[in-house]
Amino acid sequence: MRTITTPLPPGSTVGILGGGQLARMLALAAGRLGIDCHIYAPEANSPAFAVSAAKSVAAYDDFAALEAFAKQVDVVTYEFENVPGDTAGFLDRLAPVAPGVAALKTAQDRIAEKTFISGLGIPVAPFAEVSGIASLEAAIARIGRPAVLKTRRFGYDGKGQTKICDATDPAAAFAEIGGQPAILEGFVRFETEISVIAARSWPGEVRVYDVPENHHENHILKTSTVPGRISPAVARTAMDFGNRIIAALDYVGVIGIEMFVSGDQVTVNEIAPRVHNSGHWTMDACAVSQFEQHIRAVCGWPLGSPERYADVVMTNLLGDEAQRWRELAAEPRVHLHLYGKREARPGRKMGHFNRLTPRQT
Ligand code: AMP
Repeated sequence: MRTITTPLPPGSTVGILGGGQLARMLALAAGRLGIDCHIYAPEANSPAFAVSAAKSVAAYDDFAALEAFAKQVDVVTYEFENVPGDTAGFLDRLAPVAPGVAALKTAQDRIAEKTFISGLGIPVAPFAEVSGIASLEAAIARIGRPAVLKTRRFGYDGKGQTKICDATDPAAAFAEIGGQPAILEGFVRFETEISVIAARSWPGEVRVYDVPENHHENHILKTSTVPGRISPAVARTAMDFGNRIIAALDYVGVIGIEMFVSGDQVTVNEIAPRVHNSGHWTMDACAVSQFEQHIRAVCGWPLGSPERYADVVMTNLLGDEAQRWRELAAEPRVHLHLYGKREARPGRKMGHFNRLTPRQT
């Protein structure tokens, strides 16, 4: 494992695995600091390529291409959590990798993730490991219904999960998630979903942004509102959990931690070891955005201030909604971000906008 002990100077290159909108916004933020990005992604039309100094179009298991990439960059980071373990491990021997491989592995497996978080004394939904129908039946007997069955790995935006209600047949539910290794979680009756966006530097400095309230539609994030309708006590608890999790993971970079709120109770749902959609409002409402913060962190720079200058609602533009660009571009106090994706499939994240209002609290 290599680390960074002196800040990478302007003119350095950050290598990013993955070429979607998160990599694109990281590259734009890096550009402002005089830092170049080299994007490594298998898809020839990746949105990040258009704004980056260099690209490698290759598979994540093409070790010759990975080696050549590692030699051309000063630090490696990633925009998605499903980087294969072998890929991250291989790169780790050639270049500093941030966030580190251990944190990545914890976040990739829902059982490891929940075991780790509950080991810190932080509440998570009751959970049990599921490897087949017998263990699913035993897990339902222990946890009760309703519950949520999720694949251990590779789930996102509600994919790879199904709810177990009173009438659900366990075998059918297990088949629905593809019969893969899974986790059964007790259903949390939450009032609000929130997230903590935090950053940690190589020397261990931590910064936490204000806590957004998140609304999902069809399991996809639709809006993040800051400040959210949560009490100051809940916000403090959430930020404290964020601080403890990022420090215990020995994490470097920006992390997104999704949480449920019921009354005063905060329950951690999952960790995303990367910049996060519910942090996009920081681009226009804060002194330093989550994207710049991530670049600063992985490059060994001092972290920036997460101070918020305005109240803000971030709205995702999914599929055809991006056709609203002309109307949104004409609106004062709306900051529009489009990802350069050519094809607007239903539910696809095409862009977002931040609507700012003067800060009230
Ligand atoms: P996830 O893939 O874990 O982020 O879950 C996607 C969404 O499903 C969450 O944002 C929640 O709205 C819902 N969800 C996930 N897990 C639970 C749970 N244990 N109890 C209630 N709702 C859940």
